[in-house]
Amino acid sequence: MAKLRDDNDTDLKEAMLYEKGKNGKVTCNLCAHRCSIAEGKQGICQVRENRDGTLYSLVYGRTIAQHVDPIEKKPLYHFLPGTAAYSIATAGCNFRCRWCQNWDISQMPREKGLIVGEKASPQEIVNSALRSGCRSIAYTYTEPTIFSEYAYDTAKLAHEAGLANIFVSNGYMTREMLETFQPYLDAANVDLKAFSDKTYRKHIGARLQPVLDSLVNMKELGIWLEVTTLVVPGINDSPDELREAAGFISNKLGRGTPWHISAFHASYKMADVPRTSIAILRQARQIGREEGLDYIYIGNVAEEAAQDTLCPSCGTILVGRRSYFVTGQRVEENRCPQCGITIAGVWD
Ligand code: SF4
Repeated sequence: MAKLRDDNDTDLKEAMLYEKGKNGKVTCNLCAHRCSIAEGKQGICQVRENRDGTLYSLVYGRTIAQHVDPIEKKPLYHFLPGTAAYSIATAGCNFRCRWCQNWDISQMPREKGLIVGEKASPQEIVNSALRSGCRSIAYTYTEPTIFSEYAYDTAKLAHEAGLANIFVSNGYMTREMLETFQPYLDAANVDLKAFSDKTYRKHIGARLQPVLDSLVNMKELGIWLEVTTLVVPGINDSPDELREAAGFISNKLGRGTPWHISAFHASYKMADVPRTSIAILRQARQIGREEGLDYIYIGNVAEEAAQDTLCPSCGTILVGRRSYFVTGQRVEENRCPQCGITIAGVWD
């Protein structure tokens, strides 16, 4: 058996949402890979292991990152703007995107054959969030679905303490995972990494349809949703593909769903690819407008006013932002103070 953990295994946690099968195999139902895992083996994410017919999480209570971030950095622009989110992650991911910006922690088990992390119980995470003056806990940086047990226990305690819970996710979870989390999950930002199944299969190691299903499921379950597309040159930047993505968001999730179009910076296995041009990002924004989206933001570049929230009816600046920080907020009781229309989101 591969030894992934760096110390003893006394804090292993039995997994949620799995089934025992024949010959000691188990099936994990957390994400759409639905791995069938033989004894002594791990799932695709490498952080869930079958030991003698029982599936365990190898990352419960072990954070690879803990930071206080502005919620705008997730990015969430229409959910408690101007507040801080206590952000945590464990090692591992169920995707292997060739351009991953956090590959050193997301691919650590796969690339280094190692799982490390600082021990922190769910209660300690909640206490740290409260001490830091945060209004929410964000499960982020890597994929929270693969550390569901840890996120779930933390999220329950967070709600009891009056904190919101946020997933920053690739959207590959199953419907049953989302239904389990729904009572405690308030908001999510989901990456729609491409609008091509071929790209998902070739560059990510996954499929497109389960991501689209999760986006619709989150909307149905009443979780506040924002969508991000990292525009990678030569991968997902054709006008036709961007139009399909924008059209899906507008038609299936609603025109009030914020779409964050972010610039790619060279990373991981795409270190020689140039960064996304501002012209492509502006073109994507124009396409989003033509497809009817009300709130489109350009991120990861210095572009004047590209992060401000404007009233889609009268154009009043409702939330001003600079470098992830809110410079002014004018939404009153979910409405534009100028023309009175409802502004989609969860506002203070
Ligand atoms: S969470 Fe991990 S083990 Fe479970 S189905 Fe997804 S990749 Fe497989």
